[in-house]
Amino acid sequence: MYFPYFDPTYLLVIPGLILGLWAQAKVKSTYHKYSRIPTGRGQSAAQVVGRLLAQEGAGHVQISRTRGTLTDHYDPRTNTLRLSEGVYDSASVAALGIAAHEAGHALQKQENYPFLALRSMMVPVVNIGSHLAWPIFVLGIIVSWPPLMTAGIVLFGLVVLFSLITLPVEFNASRRAMQMLTSCGHLTQAEEEGARKVLNAAAMTYVASFVSAALQLLRLVALANRRRD
Ligand SMILES: [Zn+2]
Repeated sequence: MYFPYFDPTYLLVIPGLILGLWAQAKVKSTYHKYSRIPTGRGQSAAQVVGRLLAQEGAGHVQISRTRGTLTDHYDPRTNTLRLSEGVYDSASVAALGIAAHEAGHALQKQENYPFLALRSMMVPVVNIGSHLAWPIFVLGIIVSWPPLMTAGIVLFGLVVLFSLITLPVEFNASRRAMQMLTSCGHLTQAEEEGARKVLNAAAMTYVASFVSAALQLLRLVALANRRRD
């Protein structure tokens, strides 16, 4: 063990863990509930979202299936919406909300929404940072060399920045989704409200990720300061 048996800085990360578990449970239960409530018109999420995108002048965006549950995402490199198996063919309130959210990301790309562009640019650096931050930091502690600890903290800081930039991207995609769903008149008011609840629950998972990462960063700083005393 590199750290003392009882490491009090560990207490810092516990609120983040609890918030993360709560957000995951919330998104699963909300999805579960609204994936069983069909929309009155009965058209699949893939069909509806294809039409919404066409109306927004983004009919060229591809829509395909992907495996898993809640694995829906938009791939800006190939300009493709990948909808999960439970969403693609489904006409549920949850499916329409999720598909419209991913369409919101496609519109961000089309309009060069700056936070999406920034987020995409950061992906390669953050992938490296998230893998190397802790090993570099711990190595700095082992060899008692503060510059290495600082390098680990800076790398982890990039991870925190990334999860912060993710927040406007996600909130904005949900806002666009609700605007599209409202203006097309495809959903009743109650259905719209359900879709909004699903998207709000999903947004909370991103907030939880950010809080959790920020607390981990604080912990690294606390550990480094303790070593310097
Ligand atoms: Zn999203």
